[in-house]
Amino acid sequence: MSIARVEPLTTARALRGPFDYLIPERLGEIRVGTVLEVPFGRRRITGVVVEIAATSELPPEKLAEPIRVVGTGTNPDLIDLGLWIASEYCSTPARGLGLALPPGTGTGGERTRFRVEKMNSITEAGREALDGGARLGAKQKLALQQLLEGDLNGRQLAARAGIDSTTLKRLGERGLIERRQVHVRRRPEGSGVGAAAANAPELTAAQSEAVDRLVSGLDDPGGGEGVLLNGVTGSGKTEVYLALVEEVLRRGRTAIVLVPEIGLTPQAVGRFQARLGDRVAVLHSALTAGQRFDEWQRLKAGDATVCVGPRSAVFAPLESLGLIVIDEEHDSSYKQEGDPRYDAREVARRRARETGSLLVLGTATPRPESWSRLARIELPDRVDGQSMPPVELVDMREADPRQGPIHRRTWEALAEIREKGEKAIVMINRRGFAPWLTCQTCGHHWGCPNCDVSLIVHRESDQLICHHCNHAETLPRRCPECGGTTLSQTGAGTQRIERLLAEELSPMPVFRLDADTSAGPGGHASILSAFDQEDSAILVGTQMVAKGHDFPEVTLAAILDADATLRFPDFRAEERTFSLVTQLAGRSGRSRAGGRVIVQTLAPGSPSISHAATHDSAGFLAGELDRRRELGYPPFSHLIRIQLAAEAEPDVDSAANLVAARVDDALPAGAELLGPAPMFRARNRYRRRLLIRSTTRAESIAAVHATIEELLADRSLKNITLAIDVDPQ
Ligand code: ADP
Ligand code: ZN
Repeated sequence: MSIARVEPLTTARALRGPFDYLIPERLGEIRVGTVLEVPFGRRRITGVVVEIAATSELPPEKLAEPIRVVGTGTNPDLIDLGLWIASEYCSTPARGLGLALPPGTGTGGERTRFRVEKMNSITEAGREALDGGARLGAKQKLALQQLLEGDLNGRQLAARAGIDSTTLKRLGERGLIERRQVHVRRRPEGSGVGAAAANAPELTAAQSEAVDRLVSGLDDPGGGEGVLLNGVTGSGKTEVYLALVEEVLRRGRTAIVLVPEIGLTPQAVGRFQARLGDRVAVLHSALTAGQRFDEWQRLKAGDATVCVGPRSAVFAPLESLGLIVIDEEHDSSYKQEGDPRYDAREVARRRARETGSLLVLGTATPRPESWSRLARIELPDRVDGQSMPPVELVDMREADPRQGPIHRRTWEALAEIREKGEKAIVMINRRGFAPWLTCQTCGHHWGCPNCDVSLIVHRESDQLICHHCNHAETLPRRCPECGGTTLSQTGAGTQRIERLLAEELSPMPVFRLDADTSAGPGGHASILSAFDQEDSAILVGTQMVAKGHDFPEVTLAAILDADATLRFPDFRAEERTFSLVTQLAGRSGRSRAGGRVIVQTLAPGSPSISHAATHDSAGFLAGELDRRRELGYPPFSHLIRIQLAAEAEPDVDSAANLVAARVDDALPAGAELLGPAPMFRARNRYRRRLLIRSTTRAESIAAVHATIEELLADRSLKNITLAIDVDPQ
């Protein structure tokens, strides 16, 4: 007797498995990872096998049999990973497992998800018939002649020679052609089909040494802890990854390369495909469901042996994994915002450990966590021997406010760029035209009706828009309170800066890159390529302009509000600011023409900004780690955040107090609870936040998870939305 323990793929609380089923012979091989349709009471549900057992606690006559096998399922090690995520990130087994299963499992019911079509090929009998061995109709003859050159599908035959399906059917019946179903691969857009393998440049001494050290790590991956590849911007980290991946493939193993979210992926993918060709599969959110499914199956079948993509690519169904690379490991997109709130860096660590793979984390701005924990390999210089660009701090506290958001020094530098016919990147980390609209007469200020935040002026659409809930209203011409018509738009966002630059620096082209201009597939890439094609131009935008791309002709990078990210009440504010300023600075001076950087700031003395100005990661991290140690923040503790929201303020208050009391009771030694603290109202809901700071990670997670499950089960938290976030960013 063989028992399958099946976890239902639904988040309904009553259906929390696993449940035992008796495996009948008729279903063929069933193993961990197989997806089944099973009877459940009077219903049929989809579930995945999480364990095969010899016995059940239930007597055999009480055990039902699965109805049928639904799909290919996934690798057993990924089932473990999915269940681990469910418990590590306080989610449900169904959600954790959903990450590990083929795209679309459990959501769409049956349906073949491969795209198939009929291919026609000529048989030996068909060739003889053409040579006069049999009587052929005119259409039949034409069809066979076409097929002499190679296999064709019905659509192609119709287009080339007007062949209809009746003719093909008849030819098939006569045995003159063979017709068979084949899978058609839906290729991701822009994937370099059959692209000629690009040659690797000769590695620099520093790159070779890094590759050698990493290759030796393949034999001894050190329990999956990982190695930090700390290389300044432009130090050629990607070439190191490529050489390492090639070595892994030579050894008959496979590799995953994680890259940050956003439109970056096509560029990163392009470099890998150019070098490794069709062995590379991509998994990212811009794929159609069909493309994603096909790429996933290519990985599962072993047709592709490298997977490149953002965080979810960590679940690529590869066998014999040998390497996981996390490029730009500091990037916040590695943390998923919705349930399950997993951190792909931690998932990668777990997967590397379980599979004996080497984990490599690359960045110019390591996280304090990685810096303090990991062995390091350094690439201290740029590949071309260029020095890092000098950074000039411009103190905006002394600036004349009438000068506007761009300082005189910055204007001078931009004018120089225009004169010399070079390129500049300007960053302001806020989209829209202006962040505040106020009535000059009575002081009325336009806020969002659903959230406690200001509405942002968007000139292009002539609207006021809330950046939290997307509430939008027409830009008013007069004040609803006093009827005044003098309304002032204060502060600056990307739209205003774009306009200012275009006016002052005409005829230089100005391109804007932010969430508004880059929406839609390919939007991001097309703006970057338009900028690339100009001889001399300016790229202005939000933090998107600081990431990933490599334009050698950029000789000026300017950041207008370097400390905007510092003003967030968050212990990671310094870390984030340092990384953003350093990354933006790294866009400048990537060629012989050299380059410079201007940083406008109200806080020139803050460690994140002063160290970024000297490209001093080590100095920044030393100070930051001291500060974290004193405050007891990560990496010296672990955080768990519980967020509650409700439409009525008293409801959320009492729920927060209840949760706080229960969690506090349940917490193990080494953990403390902070809060409840109010958060600003968003999407018409009042919010509260609890924070647990702990040095006993596993016990604290378990305690929080169990307590919340209990409260949810006895319906104490009706009408409350609750989210638990382990390692919140
Ligand atoms: P990073 O990811 O460290 O910022 P990249 O890998 O993007 O750096 O490399 C920066 C630039 O240098 C790229 O244009 C890349 O093609 C080029 N490059 C990298 N290594 C070499 C090398 N060994 N020789 C010549 N060019 C190189
Ligand atoms: Zn809103």
